[in-house]
This record gives sequence, C-alpha cells and structure tokens, in this order.
Amino acid sequence: MRPLGWDNQAGYRQKKLGEMLLAASLIDEGQLVTALTKQQRSNKKLGEILVNLGYTNEELVLNLLGKQLDSPYIRIAETERIDKAIIQRIPENLAERNLILPVKMEDDTLWVAMSDPANQFLKNVLALLTGYHIKSYIASPKELKQAIAHYYSRSGRFEQTTEATPLHSYFLPLKQLGFTPRQLPVFAKYLEQQKGCLFIIGSEYSGKKTTVYASLRQLNFPDNDIVSVERKMDYKLEGINQLEVADTSDLDLHLMIDSVNQFNPNILAVENIQGVESWNSIGRMAEKGSLVIGTINTDQHILDFLVDFPNLRTSHYSVIEHLTLVAEQKLVRAICPYCQAVYTISGKTARKMGLKVKGATINIYKGKGCSVCNHTGYYGYTACYELLPINDTIKDLIMQKAGKAKLKKARPQEMTSSFNDVLQEKLLKGQVSAEDYLQVMDKNINQFKELKTAQIMATFWTLFERSGSVNAYLQYCRKN
Ligand SMILES: [Zn+2]
Repeated sequence: MRPLGWDNQAGYRQKKLGEMLLAASLIDEGQLVTALTKQQRSNKKLGEILVNLGYTNEELVLNLLGKQLDSPYIRIAETERIDKAIIQRIPENLAERNLILPVKMEDDTLWVAMSDPANQFLKNVLALLTGYHIKSYIASPKELKQAIAHYYSRSGRFEQTTEATPLHSYFLPLKQLGFTPRQLPVFAKYLEQQKGCLFIIGSEYSGKKTTVYASLRQLNFPDNDIVSVERKMDYKLEGINQLEVADTSDLDLHLMIDSVNQFNPNILAVENIQGVESWNSIGRMAEKGSLVIGTINTDQHILDFLVDFPNLRTSHYSVIEHLTLVAEQKLVRAICPYCQAVYTISGKTARKMGLKVKGATINIYKGKGCSVCNHTGYYGYTACYELLPINDTIKDLIMQKAGKAKLKKARPQEMTSSFNDVLQEKLLKGQVSAEDYLQVMDKNINQFKELKTAQIMATFWTLFERSGSVNAYLQYCRKN
C-alpha cells in the first residue's frame, strides 16, 4: 500500500475552491488573481489568504472545501461533549501537532475533525494506529486548537513555540546552503544513491533541518515516496508527506517510524533521532533498502560521535551496516555583501592564524556596517560542513569501538573535508570573518598566543593581546 500524494489533491482542491467561489459569485476574478499571486509568495493555503484579505469568510470556505473533500464542516463547539474514550483513541501529541480531534465512533469507524482532510497519508497512519476506519470532518484550525487544549488540557501546558529559526531559508536549494565546491558533489552523490543512512549531526539550531529540506527537495521526483517525520513542521514541502511527533518522546518517534515503514516509502527523513527503539526502527527501514536521512542533536565532533555511536548496542549494528555518510554542520555568520571591505594582512600573520597560504600578503574581509545589515557587518548565516563518507573499514572500527585515532586515519582523504579547511576557504573568499574563523577554530588556538600584530579587527586584537587568550574575545562576542 502506498500513501496517496495528497499534495496533488491539495492543488486540485485549491483550484476547485477558487472556481467554486467564483461560480457562486462569492469572490470576483480580480480577487482570485490577487490571492493566487499572494499564495505564490507564501506557505499559506488559498482559503486562508482569501479570508485574510477579507474577500470571503472562513465558514463559507470550510463549507465548500468540506463538500469537495467529502468531509462535512463541523463546529466542534456546537457538538455534544466528546467522550473521553473517544479522545483517547488519538494520542495528545498527534492531535496537537497535526490539528486533529477524534469526535465520534460508529462501529468500526472513527470520525476525526481535521484542519486538512485532504491529508490522506495522515488518515492512513491514524487507521493503522487506532485500528479503525477513518472518516473526516473539516474544522477551523482555530477551533481545533481550542478544542484540543480543552479536551487534552493539563494545567497551562499549552506552550507557544517561539524559538527562532536560525536560517530563515527553508526554500534554499542544496547548492546555496554553504557546501564548498568540492563538498557539494560528494554530498549529492550519497544523497542520490537513495539508500542507506545519511546523518546530519550538530548542535541545536545549527540549521540541520534546512539541509534536510533541501535534500528532500533535491529528491522530490514523482517516482519517489518521501515521508518526513518531524518534531515540528517548520515548512510545508510540496509533494512530501510530513508528520509531526512530540519533541522528547522516543516512544512516539519509533511508533511513527514503524507505522510509516508499513507504507514502504523509499525515502524517510527523521528529525532529532534519539532512543534505542528509534534506532532499531531506523535500522529496519534501512534494511529494506530505503534511504534514511536523519538529524541528531549533539555537540560532539563527528569522530567522537562515531566512537560512541549513540552508546553503541548490538541493535545498532544494522544502522552502522547501512551508514553511508555523516555530515557535521555549524552555522557561521556571513559577512554582509553590501558593506564588505578588504584588509591586507601579512602572510606571516596569516600563517600564524593557521591559514595554509603562501606569499607575502593575503586579503581578508570584514563588513564595515551599513543600513542593510543594521550596522553589524553581518548578514545571515552560511552553513559549514564537515563530511565523512563511511567505508567498510570505518564501519568495522566503529563496531570494534576502536577509538578516535584509528577512525581518523581511516577517513577517505580525497572526500573528507574538515571545518578547518572549509572555514579557511570561506575566510579567503570573504564569506566569513577572521573573528568567526578563529572562534570556530578556538580548540587549536594555542598557536595564536604569540601573535602580537594588531592588523586585523581592532576589538579582537586588543582584547586578544590584553588577555593573552582567546577567552576575553569569546566573552566579548557572546555579549555583543
Ligand atoms: Zn552591511
């Protein structure tokens, strides 16, 4: 059984909705064009845009959509109180994350109020999880939110998600993320093999999800069945089945992966993998020949991560067996291109900074500050990657718990790139500043202690020289 491509349905529905509203003279053609134009630039649904523009009202739209999708419009506030036994059919986090609420049971059918009844894939998953046939109502997202809070509510637990998105760029293609020209074909090669486990690791808010979204977009062909299991759906990807699970729960995550597994998608993305059971589920997925793209929140360096591959157990062997590539990701501030200025430093200074350069002088860059970058000199971020293709030797070493030094030695040199190399390349191209280069490199900072020449950024060098260590500078960075 394969999930239906519900985005096609959504496209059909949107066209139909516009046509239906037109036919009923509820909007005019000019209004439809305005709304469609607006829609191209946003992630919103046509109905929502028409309502926001004041061209029509929500109830009318939901009524029409309900007819189109064979899902009657329901006003939850006006229904009878829903029985607890019905509510318990669907776990809270699924209800909350996907804006759905079970409202009625009839024999072997569970009626679910949904904000998006066109999501056939979600219905398939619900059928699998509950053991019931699923029929749907359409309901307003706002009312669903209130009802979910009401029926599942535990003392003020309804938190607002306000975390900032680090890389406001979920729509960026792979080649614009920050891979170096040497890295991009390596990453693309492993992605396009469409099998095995490819992991992107890094600390929280290092932009891993942007890389996943770009990867999925790269693989988004009609022949591919792609499912993305996410902790929070940050962006709706056309043509990809996205599902949400709670942030912390291994139980929900592995149940979801196992359910998804039964639909045989050939590509699965999983956000923030954790817990033994989830690793097992991922191993089973990979064994079937699917591609699994996973992200893991960790502050560990790629080699340390592999040395205690999440606290290795025998059950992880199938994941390791299918490992193809591990990428570590960091976000580094990008120099503002509108006020970028060049500075010349001596080759000697550059070499003391650890730069592998020849010659008497080299150019580095800095943003002077302008109105575009709010006088900070920085504009957005660039992602920096360290890539480690996994060969059989490395797999054996991981399973033997052989240690970092042996892993380091076994890296396939021609395809491996370190942050050091990547940062240098970006520094010399004027994409990142010397401050940030040094900050990321601060583990190797001892060699800078002798550095006395204040030729680069006054603040940095002043603080650096005064304290004789990079700590004062780092503190300064954090404060500013
Ligand atoms: Zn600027």
